[in-house]
Amino acid sequence: MQDNYTESRRDMVKKQIQSRGINNPLVVKAMENVPRHEFVPENFRPYAYEDRPLSIGHGQTISQPYIVAFMTQALRLGGGERVLEIGTGLGYQAAVLGEIASEVYTVEYLTELADQARNCLSRLNYSNVTSTVGDGSEGWPEHSPYMGIIATASGPSVPQTLKDQLAVGGKLVMPVGNYRFGQYILRLTKGYYGDFQEERLLDVAFVPLRGKYGWNED
Ligand code: SAH
Repeated sequence: MQDNYTESRRDMVKKQIQSRGINNPLVVKAMENVPRHEFVPENFRPYAYEDRPLSIGHGQTISQPYIVAFMTQALRLGGGERVLEIGTGLGYQAAVLGEIASEVYTVEYLTELADQARNCLSRLNYSNVTSTVGDGSEGWPEHSPYMGIIATASGPSVPQTLKDQLAVGGKLVMPVGNYRFGQYILRLTKGYYGDFQEERLLDVAFVPLRGKYGWNED
């Protein structure tokens, strides 16, 4: 897609993504294609391709481009999968997934963000991304099992409901740990006997997961 930000976007991919070792061609192409500036509040557009997270309102953030690319690559998608995202925000990560997977289901807790994301995704023709408002800590059982599950808010641990909704051979990527003192991205791979291989990938700082299996202090 050509737009006023095409050059900034190429630059972002080269300097922030590829130079840091994200080389999966599907992920690189997705990051080049999705117009990130469309997924940030209008006053932040000039900063959309900078190497940092940005506020999207309601105390929430759109992750730094590198983190989006990192988590997407960690799912090891080959194209054609059904994927679940917890925490739509304004829909950027969902669009990146939509470039690669065949079906993306995404759940957002806050109605206002979900509405904005839905409008933006449909305006940009991401017809393979379906969103809903709800508590994503309980997953979205109707469309399960998923070959990939990604959470973009951090929880105390991976909810059992999400593990149950993962397909055999599928991967779940989620920031886990204490929300005040830092978290790490955990990757689970589901085995044939319902067992899970666990890998700790990267130290990060995410907004807290709410809902039944999230943080309930506020
Ligand atoms: N994926 C977004 C980032 C959103 S930030 C992007 O690409 O821009 C994390 C989001 O998770 C917030 O919008 C927050 O409201 C949402 N969230 C927190 N707890 C949730 C829950 N239990 N279910 C669904 N969404 C949740």
